[in-house]
Amino acid sequence: KSNLRPDYTFENFIVGESNKHAHATCLAVADSPGQDKFNPLFLYGESGLGKTHLMQSIAHYILQHNSNMKVLYVSSNQFTNEIIEAIAKKTTEEFRNKYRKVDVLLIDDIQYLIGKDATQNEFFDTFNALHDEGKQIILSSDKPPKEIKTLDVRYRSRFEWGVPIDIHAPDYETRMAILKNKAEIKGLKNISEPIFEYIAKNITYNVRELEGALNKLSIYSELGHIKITEDLAKNILKDLISKDEKVTITPDLIINTVSEHLNISVNDIISTKRSQDIATARQISMYLCRKYTDKGLKSIGDSFGGKDHSTVHSNIQKVEEKIDKDPEFAEMVDVIIKKLNPQK
Ligand code: ADP
Ligand code: MG
Repeated sequence: KSNLRPDYTFENFIVGESNKHAHATCLAVADSPGQDKFNPLFLYGESGLGKTHLMQSIAHYILQHNSNMKVLYVSSNQFTNEIIEAIAKKTTEEFRNKYRKVDVLLIDDIQYLIGKDATQNEFFDTFNALHDEGKQIILSSDKPPKEIKTLDVRYRSRFEWGVPIDIHAPDYETRMAILKNKAEIKGLKNISEPIFEYIAKNITYNVRELEGALNKLSIYSELGHIKITEDLAKNILKDLISKDEKVTITPDLIINTVSEHLNISVNDIISTKRSQDIATARQISMYLCRKYTDKGLKSIGDSFGGKDHSTVHSNIQKVEEKIDKDPEFAEMVDVIIKKLNPQK
């Protein structure tokens, strides 16, 4: 079972001035993994600018073109959980075998690994073992390597980090192209040019939020085939587009962030599906909406495809109980909160 999102491919990645260097480098690595020049490949940039998308694109590409290669993509969170579990169950040997037999290892958001001793040591050992064999390692982080203290101290002297590749916020043309591409993927046909322009002018620093805007419009367009006029769009998007604050945490941003972190689609989160993974993602999203937006239970329910307030209430309670009882779960929720980067 692959933990890659099928839509995170090079085909679906819009290239512009802000990311063309990162894109070209990722393509080069995907085309011939393991070259010294880009090993490790270290991608960095602010949250929401396409690091995960690019990493998974590399993984898809290699799997497609080089089917004999073993490719493993994990989030730092998953890597951490596997180590904790291996230590608890005394299966660290198996853990090592799993990670050391791969040809290409991708670890996303390594800033969350650093500082956790057991995880970090295991990471460095894995890293060394693979690197010594010339296996391709691809890492992402929200900071450049030199700003990650532990990496710096322990690794600067051992080998160079290749050339760290940074991704910037997209310019206006790129934002327009991304919006149109995402709208097409989502099957959103009734968005007019001025609405795209309005979004691209007002959401400037984060592609995830561009997508959040479309998701929000898509919920409306699915509800009863309403024609989305410019005024309606502005009204629907007014929470998301707030000019005086840099980051507004909205239910959509939360749902998108949880979706990305747990690899559960937005549609599943706002659906009524009851499978454990999906329900957990939905519960956490509701809990975060309660905690980080000023929305009431009813309004939160609306953001989840119209759930009633008692459902929202009981879902939030489940998360609160689980946070109290299960430290790993609490830590996972914490990581999502860090991604949301609340001001308070
Ligand atoms: P990061 O990992 O840097 O936080 P992601 O890769 O999760 O960012 O990107 C956030 C969202 O924005 C994803 O849904 C991704 O598909 C989308 N995205 C980012 N950059 C692009 C791009 N250049 N073209 C298309 N989609 C993009
Ligand atoms: Mg990411």
